[in-house]
Amino acid sequence: MAKGTIPIIGVLAIQGDYAAHAEALSESGAEPVEVRKPSELAGIDGLILPGGESTTVLRFLEKLNFFDVLRDFCGCKPVFGTCAGAILLAREVRNPPQRSLGLLDAIVERNAYGRQIDSAILTAETALPGGPLEMVFIRAPRMVEVGAGVQVLAMRDDFPVLVRQGSLMAATFHPELSSDRRVHRLFAESVAATRSNRAPVTTELAQRIRTGV
Ligand code: GLN
Repeated sequence: MAKGTIPIIGVLAIQGDYAAHAEALSESGAEPVEVRKPSELAGIDGLILPGGESTTVLRFLEKLNFFDVLRDFCGCKPVFGTCAGAILLAREVRNPPQRSLGLLDAIVERNAYGRQIDSAILTAETALPGGPLEMVFIRAPRMVEVGAGVQVLAMRDDFPVLVRQGSLMAATFHPELSSDRRVHRLFAESVAATRSNRAPVTTELAQRIRTGV
């Protein structure tokens, strides 16, 4: 990426494997920033919601009075949710139902691959150029339904595992745990493109980010 266009990408650092995402972003031409409170959303061009335990992240978001501001931020800046992060982005969560940001037009079922095969490493062709991609699944959710506006970039057993919808991206696997950086590069490039189009947050949202409400 050309100098001056390096995107600054936040990683929600409340719980989960945010450090691995930060490293993956550095290796993908972006500058990572850890985000733990609403004011830290100011000045970032995009955000990663990492994997972990969505129930725990949700509880912290509510406790920190962060849920509503985060939803509005995710509605106007590029955001990439991986695993628990994809669960948070979804329109509907099942097994069991839980609150979500409701931005990705997908129905997501948590822990959908059963106990014995709840973690797996698959290598398969995807829509990304460059050959087969390694995908690490850990107690992964399954996208049981996606809307017509959702572009599917990779599948596992006929279910989408990597998708894009406008400026949102979601994966049910953990790209940060593989050495292949194509997925993070794709996101970093989309953030850089949005950034050069200058899509600032609204004044009202900027104010709410500052005050954390
Ligand atoms: N099982 C977790 C959940 O339901 C997600 C697992 C992960 O992020 N690796 O929130």
